[in-house]
Amino acid sequence: MSSNIPRITIVGAGAAGCFCAAQLKSGLPGADIRIIEAGRRPLAKLSITGGGRCNISNDFSTVHSLAEVYPRGANLMKRALKEFPVQATLDWFGKRGVLFRTENEGRIFPASDDAMQIVNTLLSAVEGVSITTGQRVDRLSDSDIHVITCGGGRGTEILKNLPVKIETPVPSLFSFNISDSPSGGRAAITALSGLCCKAALFIPGTGLRSEGDLLITDWGFSGPAALKLSSYAARYLAGLSYRSPIVVRWTLLNENELRSELDRIRRDNPRKMLRSVGPEGLPARLWDYLLNRSGLEGTRPYSELGQKGLGRLVQTLMVDTYQISGKNRFRDEFVTCGGVSLSSLNINTLECKEHPGLYFAGEILDVDAITGGFNLQAAWSTAAIVSKSIISKYGT
Ligand SMILES: Cc1cc2nc3c(=O)[nH]c(=O)nc-3n(C[C@H](O)[C@H](O)[C@H](O)COP(=O)(O)OP(=O)(O)OC[C@H]3O[C@@H](n4cnc5c(N)ncnc54)[C@H](O)[C@@H]3O)c2cc1C
Repeated sequence: MSSNIPRITIVGAGAAGCFCAAQLKSGLPGADIRIIEAGRRPLAKLSITGGGRCNISNDFSTVHSLAEVYPRGANLMKRALKEFPVQATLDWFGKRGVLFRTENEGRIFPASDDAMQIVNTLLSAVEGVSITTGQRVDRLSDSDIHVITCGGGRGTEILKNLPVKIETPVPSLFSFNISDSPSGGRAAITALSGLCCKAALFIPGTGLRSEGDLLITDWGFSGPAALKLSSYAARYLAGLSYRSPIVVRWTLLNENELRSELDRIRRDNPRKMLRSVGPEGLPARLWDYLLNRSGLEGTRPYSELGQKGLGRLVQTLMVDTYQISGKNRFRDEFVTCGGVSLSSLNINTLECKEHPGLYFAGEILDVDAITGGFNLQAAWSTAAIVSKSIISKYGT
């Protein structure tokens, strides 16, 4: 160990700050490590993650490309996941007694279903590190090393006087308020509140799209498809004050496939009412609504569905346009898009290029993900990069 053990101040006792402190404590025994936290207790947010179950990571088994899950920071995450992969996270917590369970879409949770187990594991790992709570840091102290892990949103205030470029923080992972006031006795989409179906969503003219389960709520659209689109379109929609058209494709078939499917249904069921048979996978309530939205009477038999009516149905199912009129907070998870620009940092160490000894990890970075455990994995991996680079500089 070098005789010149540094004094290290970590700003923010969240997932990244505590994980970084735990690594530094074991890698630099004897170092003077302190964490300063603005809130009343450390890891308060971690305790409510994943609805109190903590979706700690993801096995990436359903991920095709990192850019698909990290709309900002995919290149950094490629490197960070090499340096500190998912398995390293599981090993680290596993060694401390945490067992895991993997759920749909690769989501990893503690088998205890209790975020407090993750919180307590981290708290034990940082035992001996000084944690001051209730103190908001607004400037750097005289420490040799600062690790800024103060999360997204308001956390960026501390950066005002530092030589880092800031990508303006805007919210990500929200649901959409939809204004839909149909005329002629038609029901509004929100009348289907509670209904969940597979769909694709698009912001017209942008190339921004997502696919997956769409949940219709009292206020509009939520569920994985909407949250994913909110992440991809976070900056674009912020620029439009969250007012934009949005297109729903109610089927994952392409237009030709859908046309032949509807043709087949029409041929096979000439006497049946339109509302009684719909394309496979479409909930009956939704089919009824879509017939109505296409101006078709659901009680009419299929034999009366002409080419024009069929064309209108195809159009509604493929390109059903609504108006986003605002965003709604998604209660289970939200993150900040934006933060410290990666261009200001050495990507291998996450140290500020113009301020040696100043490091960043976690959500304060311009890195964020869709839901599924990817955001916490970013916190673990980027904190590991920082701790490793500090340890390699000051350890023996
Ligand atoms: C409700 C909710 C549920 C979530 N669930 C999941 C999930 O299941 N899986 C997942 O992957 N992600 C989830 N996320 C996202 C995930 O929690 C964050 O990405 C992660 O916590 C980021 O860690 P962090 O340490 O960078 O920041 P944070 O955990 O936000 O910690 C930052 C800390 O810094 C403190 N701080 C801020 N400014 C200052 C200052 N100036 N001085 C001192 N202290 C300061 C804050 O009080 C805070 O304690 C969820 C988010 C929310 C809001």
